[in-house]
Amino acid sequence: MLEIKNLHARIAEDGTEIIRGLNLTVKAGEVAAIMGPNGSGKSTLSYILAGRDDYEVTEGEILYNGESILEMDPAERAAAGIFLAFQYPLEIPGVATMEFLKTAINAQRKARGEEELKIPEMLKRVRAAADELDMSMDMLKRPLNVGFSGGEKKRAEILQMKLLEPKLCVLDETDSGLDIDALKIVADGVNALRSPDRAVLVITHYQRLLDYIVPDTVHVLYRGQVIKSGDKDLALELEKNGYAGVIDAAA
Ligand code: ADP
Ligand code: MG
Ligand code: MG
Repeated sequence: MLEIKNLHARIAEDGTEIIRGLNLTVKAGEVAAIMGPNGSGKSTLSYILAGRDDYEVTEGEILYNGESILEMDPAERAAAGIFLAFQYPLEIPGVATMEFLKTAINAQRKARGEEELKIPEMLKRVRAAADELDMSMDMLKRPLNVGFSGGEKKRAEILQMKLLEPKLCVLDETDSGLDIDALKIVADGVNALRSPDRAVLVITHYQRLLDYIVPDTVHVLYRGQVIKSGDKDLALELEKNGYAGVIDAAA
């Protein structure tokens, strides 16, 4: 589903190379964990997948279902089923969460050539998804993410993901700042989305989230490259021994 080959990318503004020859393959149905120390390029990779224009790809390829996405803008990528849950979700004053969801869902349906959802059906779907995440309908009347706690913001990201039903989900440190109850709710939300035709990239610094979302594969990102790949045991090894061993072995 996702094939990244020898990817090099830099910050558009000053030309600093952040991604330095990254290779990664993720199959449909797979949950892949991307781990790595702070500053290794995890968030940058997620932004590049989403198509943010602060970054320039200078070399390599990103194939999604066999086709390059490099020329696609963020809206086209979203319509094609790529979803990014942010490490730091943006606050959007003046736009009620519910309105935001309606607009996002209908924009995506339109891009897919589907009809707009009628309001009652929309409400039904949103209510069901919000219930599963333990989010109140009152919260959905508030402006998106404004004054939400860390946990509420992450739930709002998962809510969008549930409703948009993407094919490639990228979760950037969705676990950071979550207490254990919120962590379980978010993990349940992700686990419910597991399916043979969907892939999930779980980006995380810590092993903790992976107790709840058990990955099929684990990849260690360091200085803009995948320096080691393995199965879920690799995450446990990192938890026990830290990143230093893996980094030294790769050097
Ligand atoms: P991670 O998510 O693994 O902690 P990031 O992708 O956020 O790492 O950052 C990788 C490196 O790139 C860091 O050194 C960070 O400071 C730098 N970086 C990323 N984006 C920018 C930017 N827009 N401007 C300046 N530096 C950046
Ligand atoms: Mg970081
Ligand atoms: Mg990050």
